[in-house]
Amino acid sequence: MAGLHLPAGNQAVQDSLRAALSSRFPQAVLLIGPPGSGKMDLARQLAAALLCTGDGERPCGVCPSCRKLAHDAHPDLDIIDEGESDLPVALARDIRAKVCVLPNDGDRRVVILRHAHKLNTAAQNALLKVLEEPPRYAFFVLTSEQPGEILETIRSRCTRYQLAPAQAPDEYELLPLIQPFLHALADGDEYHMLLAAMALEKQPKAGFQAILGLVQTALRDAVFYSQALSGALLPSLADDLQRLAARVPCDRLLQLYDFCGTLSRRAETNAAAAIQCAGLCAGAYQICFPS
Ligand SMILES: [Zn+2]
Repeated sequence: MAGLHLPAGNQAVQDSLRAALSSRFPQAVLLIGPPGSGKMDLARQLAAALLCTGDGERPCGVCPSCRKLAHDAHPDLDIIDEGESDLPVALARDIRAKVCVLPNDGDRRVVILRHAHKLNTAAQNALLKVLEEPPRYAFFVLTSEQPGEILETIRSRCTRYQLAPAQAPDEYELLPLIQPFLHALADGDEYHMLLAAMALEKQPKAGFQAILGLVQTALRDAVFYSQALSGALLPSLADDLQRLAARVPCDRLLQLYDFCGTLSRRAETNAAAAIQCAGLCAGAYQICFPS
Protein backbone atom coordinates (compact mmCIF):
# COMPACT_ATOMS: atom_id res chain seq x y z
CA MET A 1 0.00 0.00 0.00
CA ALA A 2 1.60 3.25 -1.12
CA GLY A 3 1.65 6.44 0.93
CA LEU A 4 1.83 7.26 4.61
CA HIS A 5 -0.19 5.24 7.09
CA LEU A 6 -0.61 6.55 10.61
CA PRO A 7 -2.40 4.82 13.48
CA ALA A 8 -6.07 5.67 14.03
CA GLY A 9 -6.69 9.03 15.66
CA ASN A 10 -4.07 10.88 13.59
CA GLN A 11 -6.04 11.81 10.49
CA ALA A 12 -5.18 15.52 10.66
CA VAL A 13 -1.44 14.83 11.04
CA GLN A 14 -1.57 12.33 8.19
CA ASP A 15 -3.32 14.81 5.88
CA SER A 16 -0.91 17.57 6.72
CA LEU A 17 2.19 15.39 6.21
CA ARG A 18 0.86 14.11 2.88
CA ALA A 19 0.29 17.67 1.74
CA ALA A 20 3.79 18.66 2.87
CA LEU A 21 5.33 15.71 1.01
CA SER A 22 3.72 16.77 -2.23
CA SER A 23 4.98 20.35 -1.93
CA ARG A 24 8.00 21.56 0.00
CA PHE A 25 8.73 19.30 2.95
CA PRO A 26 10.31 21.01 6.00
CA GLN A 27 13.96 20.10 6.50
CA ALA A 28 13.50 19.54 10.23
CA VAL A 29 10.45 17.95 11.80
CA LEU A 30 9.80 16.97 15.40
CA LEU A 31 7.39 14.11 16.03
CA ILE A 32 5.89 14.34 19.50
CA GLY A 33 3.74 11.75 21.24
CA PRO A 34 3.55 9.38 24.20
CA PRO A 35 5.38 6.02 24.18
CA GLY A 36 3.74 3.59 21.78
CA SER A 37 2.11 6.29 19.65
CA GLY A 38 4.09 5.28 16.56
CA LYS A 39 6.69 8.05 16.32
CA MET A 40 9.55 5.88 15.09
CA ASP A 41 7.35 4.03 12.62
CA LEU A 42 6.22 7.37 11.23
CA ALA A 43 9.83 8.63 11.16
CA ARG A 44 10.79 5.65 9.01
CA GLN A 45 7.81 6.19 6.73
CA LEU A 46 8.76 9.84 6.29
CA ALA A 47 12.36 8.90 5.51
CA ALA A 48 11.06 6.39 2.96
CA ALA A 49 8.78 9.01 1.43
CA LEU A 50 11.60 11.56 1.21
CA LEU A 51 13.99 9.08 -0.40
CA CYS A 52 11.42 7.29 -2.59
CA THR A 53 12.09 7.50 -6.32
CA GLY A 54 8.76 6.03 -7.43
CA ASP A 55 5.91 7.79 -9.18
CA GLY A 56 2.64 8.66 -7.51
CA GLU A 57 2.10 8.49 -3.78
CA ARG A 58 5.25 8.14 -1.69
CA PRO A 59 6.62 5.98 -0.24
CA CYS A 60 5.69 3.67 -3.12
CA GLY A 61 7.08 0.56 -1.42
CA VAL A 62 8.47 -0.92 -4.64
CA CYS A 63 11.19 1.38 -6.03
CA PRO A 64 14.87 0.50 -5.42
CA SER A 65 15.07 3.09 -2.64
CA CYS A 66 12.00 1.73 -0.82
CA ARG A 67 13.36 -1.80 -1.15
CA LYS A 68 16.71 -0.78 0.33
CA LEU A 69 14.92 0.87 3.22
CA ALA A 70 12.86 -2.22 3.85
CA HIS A 71 16.16 -4.10 4.26
CA ASP A 72 17.71 -1.37 6.44
CA ALA A 73 20.32 -0.90 3.75
CA HIS A 74 19.84 2.63 2.44
CA PRO A 75 23.12 4.59 2.37
CA ASP A 76 21.33 7.94 2.66
CA LEU A 77 19.43 7.24 5.87
CA ASP A 78 21.00 7.42 9.33
CA ILE A 79 18.95 6.29 12.32
CA ILE A 80 20.33 7.47 15.65
CA ASP A 81 18.67 5.38 18.35
CA GLU A 82 20.55 5.10 21.63
CA GLY A 83 17.59 3.71 23.54
CA GLU A 84 17.20 5.33 26.94
CA SER A 85 20.80 6.62 27.05
CA ASP A 86 21.71 10.29 27.11
CA LEU A 87 22.91 11.71 23.83
CA PRO A 88 26.28 13.40 24.35
CA VAL A 89 27.85 16.25 22.41
CA ALA A 90 30.13 13.80 20.55
CA LEU A 91 27.03 12.22 19.04
CA ALA A 92 25.72 15.60 17.90
CA ARG A 93 29.08 16.31 16.24
CA ASP A 94 28.91 12.91 14.61
CA ILE A 95 25.46 13.75 13.21
CA ARG A 96 26.83 17.05 11.88
CA ALA A 97 29.65 15.20 10.14
CA LYS A 98 27.25 12.64 8.60
CA VAL A 99 25.02 15.40 7.27
CA CYS A 100 27.94 17.00 5.44
CA VAL A 101 28.41 13.89 3.31
CA LEU A 102 26.65 14.25 -0.03
CA PRO A 103 23.84 11.77 -0.72
CA ASN A 104 25.01 8.55 -2.25
CA ASP A 105 22.01 7.33 -4.24
CA GLY A 106 19.74 10.27 -4.91
CA ASP A 107 19.55 13.92 -4.02
CA ARG A 108 18.54 13.65 -0.37
CA ARG A 109 19.93 12.46 2.93
CA VAL A 110 17.77 11.80 6.00
CA VAL A 111 18.72 11.60 9.66
CA ILE A 112 16.28 10.17 12.19
CA LEU A 113 17.08 11.05 15.79
CA ARG A 114 15.10 9.16 18.40
CA HIS A 115 14.54 10.64 21.89
CA ALA A 116 15.78 14.09 20.92
CA HIS A 117 15.14 15.27 24.52
CA LYS A 118 18.03 13.02 25.58
CA LEU A 119 20.50 15.40 23.94
CA ASN A 120 22.20 17.36 26.71
CA THR A 121 22.44 21.12 26.40
CA ALA A 122 25.91 21.06 24.82
CA ALA A 123 24.72 18.46 22.30
CA GLN A 124 21.62 20.50 21.47
CA ASN A 125 23.75 23.56 20.88
CA ALA A 126 26.10 21.54 18.67
CA LEU A 127 23.16 20.41 16.59
CA LEU A 128 21.53 23.81 16.42
CA LYS A 129 23.81 25.23 13.73
CA VAL A 130 23.12 22.45 11.26
CA LEU A 131 19.39 22.65 11.97
CA GLU A 132 19.46 26.39 11.36
CA GLU A 133 21.26 26.12 8.06
CA PRO A 134 21.05 22.54 6.83
CA PRO A 135 22.58 21.57 3.48
CA ARG A 136 19.77 21.74 0.91
CA TYR A 137 19.72 17.94 0.57
CA ALA A 138 19.47 17.19 4.32
CA PHE A 139 16.30 16.31 6.23
CA PHE A 140 16.00 15.73 9.97
CA VAL A 141 13.26 13.76 11.67
CA LEU A 142 13.43 14.07 15.46
CA THR A 143 11.17 12.17 17.85
CA SER A 144 10.45 12.94 21.49
CA GLU A 145 8.14 12.06 24.35
CA GLN A 146 9.24 15.10 26.36
CA PRO A 147 9.50 18.05 24.00
CA GLY A 148 9.56 20.39 27.02
CA GLU A 149 13.13 19.26 27.64
CA ILE A 150 14.26 20.37 24.20
CA LEU A 151 15.72 23.86 23.91
CA GLU A 152 13.30 26.36 22.44
CA THR A 153 15.95 27.27 19.87
CA ILE A 154 15.85 23.67 18.55
CA ARG A 155 12.08 23.32 18.79
CA SER A 156 11.48 26.52 16.89
CA ARG A 157 13.64 25.20 14.02
CA CYS A 158 11.38 22.16 13.64
CA THR A 159 7.91 21.77 12.22
CA ARG A 160 6.13 19.92 15.00
CA TYR A 161 3.61 17.10 14.64
CA GLN A 162 1.76 15.72 17.64
CA LEU A 163 0.68 12.07 17.53
CA ALA A 164 -2.32 10.77 19.47
CA PRO A 165 -1.89 8.09 22.16
CA ALA A 166 -2.22 4.55 20.84
CA GLN A 167 -5.82 3.38 20.82
CA ALA A 168 -6.80 -0.03 22.05
CA PRO A 169 -8.49 -2.03 19.31
CA ASP A 170 -12.24 -1.86 19.73
CA GLU A 171 -14.60 -4.66 20.60
CA TYR A 172 -15.84 -4.93 17.06
CA GLU A 173 -12.37 -5.96 15.87
CA LEU A 174 -11.69 -8.28 18.80
CA LEU A 175 -14.93 -10.30 18.90
CA PRO A 176 -14.03 -12.44 15.87
CA LEU A 177 -10.70 -13.22 17.58
CA ILE A 178 -12.16 -14.54 20.82
CA GLN A 179 -15.22 -16.27 19.35
CA PRO A 180 -13.32 -19.47 18.32
CA PHE A 181 -11.82 -19.71 21.81
CA LEU A 182 -15.20 -19.41 23.52
CA HIS A 183 -16.75 -21.81 21.02
CA ALA A 184 -14.10 -24.44 21.81
CA LEU A 185 -14.46 -23.74 25.55
CA ALA A 186 -18.22 -24.35 25.30
CA ASP A 187 -17.40 -27.62 23.51
CA GLY A 188 -14.92 -28.58 26.24
CA ASP A 189 -12.49 -29.12 23.36
CA GLU A 190 -9.01 -28.44 24.71
CA TYR A 191 -7.28 -28.97 21.40
CA HIS A 192 -9.31 -26.33 19.58
CA MET A 193 -9.03 -24.02 22.59
CA LEU A 194 -5.27 -24.23 22.22
CA LEU A 195 -5.42 -23.55 18.47
CA ALA A 196 -7.63 -20.51 19.11
CA ALA A 197 -5.33 -19.32 21.90
CA MET A 198 -2.33 -19.58 19.58
CA ALA A 199 -4.08 -17.28 17.12
CA LEU A 200 -4.57 -14.80 19.96
CA GLU A 201 -0.84 -14.94 20.64
CA LYS A 202 -0.23 -12.79 17.58
CA GLN A 203 -1.82 -9.84 19.38
CA PRO A 204 0.49 -7.18 20.82
CA LYS A 205 0.50 -6.47 24.56
CA ALA A 206 -2.34 -3.94 24.56
CA GLY A 207 -4.34 -6.31 22.41
CA PHE A 208 -3.92 -9.21 24.82
CA GLN A 209 -5.21 -7.19 27.76
CA ALA A 210 -8.13 -5.98 25.68
CA ILE A 211 -8.84 -9.59 24.74
CA LEU A 212 -8.81 -10.67 28.38
CA GLY A 213 -11.22 -7.84 29.20
CA LEU A 214 -13.53 -9.00 26.45
CA VAL A 215 -13.34 -12.63 27.63
CA GLN A 216 -14.40 -11.34 31.05
CA THR A 217 -17.38 -9.55 29.50
CA ALA A 218 -18.29 -12.78 27.72
CA LEU A 219 -18.07 -14.73 31.00
CA ARG A 220 -20.29 -12.16 32.67
CA ASP A 221 -22.85 -12.78 29.92
CA ALA A 222 -22.56 -16.55 30.50
CA VAL A 223 -23.23 -16.05 34.20
CA PHE A 224 -26.29 -13.95 33.30
CA TYR A 225 -27.54 -16.75 31.01
CA SER A 226 -27.03 -19.33 33.73
CA GLN A 227 -29.09 -17.20 36.12
CA ALA A 228 -31.72 -16.58 33.42
CA LEU A 229 -31.05 -12.83 33.62
CA SER A 230 -31.41 -10.52 30.65
CA GLY A 231 -28.93 -7.80 29.64
CA ALA A 232 -26.23 -9.64 27.68
CA LEU A 233 -23.53 -7.25 26.45
CA LEU A 234 -22.25 -9.43 23.60
CA PRO A 235 -25.39 -10.71 21.85
CA SER A 236 -23.39 -11.94 18.83
CA LEU A 237 -21.79 -14.56 21.10
CA ALA A 238 -25.12 -15.66 22.62
CA ASP A 239 -25.11 -19.17 21.11
CA ASP A 240 -21.68 -20.12 22.43
CA LEU A 241 -22.17 -18.43 25.80
CA GLN A 242 -25.53 -20.12 26.40
CA ARG A 243 -23.91 -23.48 25.64
CA LEU A 244 -21.08 -22.57 28.02
CA ALA A 245 -23.54 -21.59 30.73
CA ALA A 246 -25.38 -24.90 30.33
CA ARG A 247 -22.16 -26.86 30.63
CA VAL A 248 -20.02 -25.08 33.24
CA PRO A 249 -21.37 -24.22 36.72
CA CYS A 250 -21.68 -20.56 37.62
CA ASP A 251 -19.02 -20.61 40.36
CA ARG A 252 -16.47 -21.93 37.88
CA LEU A 253 -17.33 -19.22 35.37
CA LEU A 254 -16.70 -16.66 38.09
CA GLN A 255 -13.42 -18.35 38.97
CA LEU A 256 -12.37 -18.10 35.33
CA TYR A 257 -13.41 -14.44 35.35
CA ASP A 258 -10.99 -13.78 38.23
CA PHE A 259 -8.28 -15.79 36.52
CA CYS A 260 -8.51 -13.51 33.45
CA GLY A 261 -8.10 -10.50 35.74
CA THR A 262 -4.97 -12.02 37.26
CA LEU A 263 -3.48 -12.69 33.82
CA SER A 264 -4.23 -9.13 32.77
CA ARG A 265 -2.48 -7.63 35.80
CA ARG A 266 0.50 -9.91 35.20
CA ALA A 267 0.72 -8.81 31.56
CA GLU A 268 0.72 -5.19 32.67
CA THR A 269 3.77 -5.44 34.90
CA ASN A 270 5.79 -8.19 33.29
CA ALA A 271 6.78 -8.10 29.64
CA ALA A 272 7.49 -11.84 29.65
CA ALA A 273 3.96 -12.47 30.84
CA ALA A 274 2.46 -10.20 28.18
CA ILE A 275 1.77 -13.17 25.99
CA GLN A 276 0.03 -15.72 28.15
CA CYS A 277 -2.32 -17.29 25.65
CA ALA A 278 -1.15 -20.82 26.41
CA GLY A 279 -1.62 -20.02 30.09
CA LEU A 280 -5.10 -18.72 29.41
CA CYS A 281 -5.97 -21.93 27.58
CA ALA A 282 -4.57 -24.31 30.21
CA GLY A 283 -6.05 -22.31 33.11
CA ALA A 284 -9.47 -22.01 31.49
CA TYR A 285 -9.64 -25.73 30.77
CA GLN A 286 -8.61 -26.71 34.31
CA ILE A 287 -11.06 -24.31 35.91
CA CYS A 288 -14.02 -25.32 33.74
CA PHE A 289 -13.35 -29.04 33.42
CA PRO A 290 -11.47 -30.23 36.54
CA SER A 291 -10.64 -33.90 36.26
ZN1 LIG B 1 9.55 4.16 -3.46
